[in-house]
Amino acid sequence: MTPFEYPDEPHARRHGPQGYADYESYRPWLRDEFTFRCVYCLKRERWGHVAGEYDIDHFQPVSVNAALGTDYDNLLYACARCNLAKRDREVPDPTVHLTTDELRVYPDGRIEGLTPAAKKLIAKLDLDSPQATQWRLIWIRNVELARQFDREQYERLLSFPDDLPDLSRLRPPGGNTRPAGVEESHFVRRQRNQLAVTY
Ligand SMILES: [Zn+2]
Repeated sequence: MTPFEYPDEPHARRHGPQGYADYESYRPWLRDEFTFRCVYCLKRERWGHVAGEYDIDHFQPVSVNAALGTDYDNLLYACARCNLAKRDREVPDPTVHLTTDELRVYPDGRIEGLTPAAKKLIAKLDLDSPQATQWRLIWIRNVELARQFDREQYERLLSFPDDLPDLSRLRPPGGNTRPAGVEESHFVRRQRNQLAVTY
């Protein structure tokens, strides 16, 4: 497997925390929701320092719709690079269009949109820049070499973070419109020994 397998289907929100006054409070929910990686480029928490490297992205910019500034369904987990590349712009929804049906990632690191929306998203986020392509190639090869020669390193590169958030301990001020999601969170699944070693 390559580390750049985008979801097969559009993302259906699993969590529904409500009522936090600041969007940063949604961070643990969003980490779990988007599997500890950037929704745009799939950079994993495991591959860096995490601190300072991930932002909460407003899908609809606050400059366009201030009312959605703390609306959970408008928030995405994105790396600082992608959040910077997106800037204050409206783009096609990555949770809908960055799927295996709408794009391809090749073994040499190239990415190609297959639909107008995916093409537009890739262009706006600079996901097909020479730097982004080279970055994907480096990680594709890292993972492939580890898969062949170093199983421990392979699992390290593709594992979940150690600090999975325990969402059952959180009490969103406005409640949770999708409470069943907590039972399917990564923390709970790890406790039940249902979480795979790699993803
Ligand atoms: Zn990213």
